[in-house]
Amino acid sequence: ADNGIAVSAEALVKRYGARRVVDGVDLVVPEGAIYGVLGPNGAGKTTTLRMLLGIIEPDSGRRRLLGSDAPRDVGDRVGYLPEERGLYPSMTAREAIAFMGALRGLEWRTGRARAAELLEAAGLGHAIDGKIRKLSKGMAQLVQLLGAVVHRPDLLVLDEPFSGLDPVNQERLEALIRAEQARGATILFSTHVMQHAQRLCDRLAIIARGQRRFEGTVDEARALLPQHVHYVPHR
Ligand code: ATP
Repeated sequence: ADNGIAVSAEALVKRYGARRVVDGVDLVVPEGAIYGVLGPNGAGKTTTLRMLLGIIEPDSGRRRLLGSDAPRDVGDRVGYLPEERGLYPSMTAREAIAFMGALRGLEWRTGRARAAELLEAAGLGHAIDGKIRKLSKGMAQLVQLLGAVVHRPDLLVLDEPFSGLDPVNQERLEALIRAEQARGATILFSTHVMQHAQRLCDRLAIIARGQRRFEGTVDEARALLPQHVHYVPHR
């Protein structure tokens, strides 16, 4: 819709007090890409994603989302996994997913049907009618992610989707992200682990102290990797 660009940011700035938490970030996410924003804790990734989504307003700079200057106008075409995870513990997995779809305008019945398909496809078929409170943290995180894709968004924004997942659930997540791309969605995700970006991304940006330090393909990043090793925190 926008010359093949799903998301763009130009000189985005966010200040908290005297501190520029995001200090002039540029981003261009091509339609259909898996795009990673890599950086250590506190680099400004979450703040950047929230500005792109219109959850908080930048102090200056411009952003466009799915062809619009008003991110909230295209909210029903976006799926979002926020940094703070949360589902209603008394819902079943199927209800939780249908509920998240309903928040994005999806009909309840359609949401319930798709929820079952998504859970099966993700290898969580056994959990369909189980309560959220009975799930492990990693499984609950995956269910929340399925809730973010149930309305088939054109753009999926995931804040540290890999954090807190064991290797099995990380593989499920990776498969899900690839399936979303195959469906035609654009995926923008943040991570502090270079390996996750390398495995999945078509392009990535590296952010440190609120500034973009690198933008390019995974191969280009790999060539520079030694210089960026210290951006990967030890946790
Ligand atoms: P993390 O993965 O730890 O969330 P991040 O790269 O996503 O890291 P942000 O959450 O964007 O980083 O935060 C960047 C910096 O801005 C941090 O130092 C954080 O403490 C600060 N910050 C974020 N939100 C606020 C706020 N509302 N008020 C004051 N400082 C904030």
